[in-house]
Amino acid sequence: MIILFNTLGRQKQKLKPLKDRLVRMYSCGPTVYDYAHLGHFRAYVFVDTLKRVLKYNKYKVKHVMNITDVGHLTSDADTGEDKMEKSARREGKTVWEIAEFYTKDFFDAMEKLNVEKADIVCKATEHIKEMAEMVQKIIDNGYAYVISDGIYFDTSKLKDYGKLAGFNPEELKAGARVEFNEEKKNPTDFALWKFTAKDQKRQMEWENEFFFKPEQIDLGKVTAYARENPNIRVEKAKRGFKLVVKGFPGWHIECSAMSIKYLGKVFDIHTGGVDHIPVHHTNEIAQSQAALKKESVKFWLHNEFVLVNNQKMSKSLQNFYTMHDILARGFDPLSLRYLFLTAHYRSKINFTWESLAAAENAYKSLKEKIASLKNKGKVGKKVKEYKKKFLEYINDDLNTPQALSLLWQMLKDDELSDKEKLVLALDFDRVFGLRLKDARKKIPKEIIKLAEERLKARKEKDWKRADELREEIRRRGYKIEDTEDGYRIFKA
Ligand code: AMP
Ligand code: ZN
Repeated sequence: MIILFNTLGRQKQKLKPLKDRLVRMYSCGPTVYDYAHLGHFRAYVFVDTLKRVLKYNKYKVKHVMNITDVGHLTSDADTGEDKMEKSARREGKTVWEIAEFYTKDFFDAMEKLNVEKADIVCKATEHIKEMAEMVQKIIDNGYAYVISDGIYFDTSKLKDYGKLAGFNPEELKAGARVEFNEEKKNPTDFALWKFTAKDQKRQMEWENEFFFKPEQIDLGKVTAYARENPNIRVEKAKRGFKLVVKGFPGWHIECSAMSIKYLGKVFDIHTGGVDHIPVHHTNEIAQSQAALKKESVKFWLHNEFVLVNNQKMSKSLQNFYTMHDILARGFDPLSLRYLFLTAHYRSKINFTWESLAAAENAYKSLKEKIASLKNKGKVGKKVKEYKKKFLEYINDDLNTPQALSLLWQMLKDDELSDKEKLVLALDFDRVFGLRLKDARKKIPKEIIKLAEERLKARKEKDWKRADELREEIRRRGYKIEDTEDGYRIFKA
């Protein structure tokens, strides 16, 4: 029995998958306009741990994650620039190049953190049709209206809008004044589709048609917008009007459209960081309710922030560290994974390099301990007791800190044989994902000799020789990875 904390309702609940032993889950993926940082890594290590716990409990998991490569604006209030277009301008590249570069960098980092890739990774730009169809349903069901810069969702039409965040829309109105767009009917209304502004040059834009019944559109106003902006056209259609627009989807619609496409109208789990609760996920819920007349998600799970000096690590505050920083300082990425596991996913982590160094020390001693165990001895019934305890911890809303201390307690237990310790440690590692098995692998002396020779060649800038040696190492079944202070070797 797995218990998870559901943000919707703010309580722990028993997980009961909709389809027998299959758990269908969706995770909000990264916006690929810059390097991912430690905050993002925490979000995905959390998702990975969740998947591992489900699989440890013999569930099958179907996991979908999106890549946001269009439509995420610099402000959550649907104003400001598209982050991708802004980044492309800054770096003098195309938006597509930006997306490709940072997506690859993101997945490289995920691999280093031993985060398993989602079964389906879907890009927003490849699902424009599905998003437009969902927006059309929302219009048809009477939840949308048009203003000069886009098609918006009328949040006042939903009785329980905002329930995920537990806020009262009246209170929010007061707080949202600063960014309130006067044309919107309610401060919490959000863009379903944005029109390219009249003088704007966008790299990513699409032409789409949306149909409105006469009572769903203020023809006078929309005709005036069309006169002002060549990217908007309004035509008479069979049972009303057709709006032909050049533009791009709002950020929230991609997750609604893609999760439903790949997981069905109702699925089990949706994840993201806590910053997504008040806007992004609140609006996803609203969209599904409006388009499908039902709730799509059973469990909403949110990880807490990584902080730096008690402020959220974020690109906008410029207080972030990337995988490149971790490697440049000579840390093993899995030490970061260890650090994340020492805290519960719903508590904040204030990141310092000292805390990472401490985690690295602990992780190193853990590996040394595992390496020193002899594969000998009996396997008795105490193993079962430990497994039971372990399951109890991880199934209680992923209590990884307790599960980790159980691992240490177990390794120090004199009543267990080495064999039992090894069996248990490797079994627990199916959830921790710390590659503890690798600690048992001895790298042969001749491979280390080749690696040392290669390091020397690199220092002497003899790249040809370094490449030859890498190839030789590969031929012998090992992979060498450069770190800023040397190298690491793995069994390939
Ligand atoms: P974004 O690319 O901003 O949409 O973020 C991708 C994921 O990382 C989302 O689930 C965010 O909630 C999460 N995230 C972003 N910053 C942090 C942070 N400082 N700590 C934890 N999670 C974060
Ligand atoms: Zn999302």
